Amino acid sequence: MRVDISVVQERYAKMSNEELIRYATLDAKGLTPAAQQVIAYEVDKRNLHPGIFDAVEAQNRDHSEEEIYAYCETLQGLDCPLCRKTVPLNGTFSRQVKAIIFSGHTSDTYTVACPDCLDKTSKTALHKSLLQGWWSPVGIFRTLSAIFIYLRHSKHHHDEAPSPALRQFARLHVGPLTAYRGDRRRLQSIITQ
Ligand SMILES: [Zn+2]
Repeated sequence: MRVDISVVQERYAKMSNEELIRYATLDAKGLTPAAQQVIAYEVDKRNLHPGIFDAVEAQNRDHSEEEIYAYCETLQGLDCPLCRKTVPLNGTFSRQVKAIIFSGHTSDTYTVACPDCLDKTSKTALHKSLLQGWWSPVGIFRTLSAIFIYLRHSKHHHDEAPSPALRQFARLHVGPLTAYRGDRRRLQSIITQ
């Protein structure tokens, strides 16, 4: 479907600065070059940080493993958002399952924090799933997947190298990591939940 570019212009022009920044840094993957140019125009017109447009570009290209490692290094050098410790951080992925009669609710979360806080976070998610997840057929299946996810990710919490979950977190956040490069306070906000 072809979208009239004037509709896109109008839509972006109506966004507040905050909405535009959020959209450009997090949701700009797959935008057409024309739509990207409209964002560039808005960023310039509103005198926003040029890194905001770099974030659009970053979301629309592939990244080498080296680039992802560089983003991971940035993340690892931040303060733990849970206990404020300044040891090298890492990442985990956890699944929490709650069975509801014939169905189930699943919440999947990436966490970037110090290794001790990662241990606590993923154990808490697992314990909640073990208490609340079993009580429906779907819940049984999803609780088993939550156990599998726990075993797969928790073994990397204390690694010096970026864990698979941290690398995936970096891939999902190339927008803000690019936009906020060099601004520690804003970078910290990416990992604060
Ligand atoms: Zn911590």
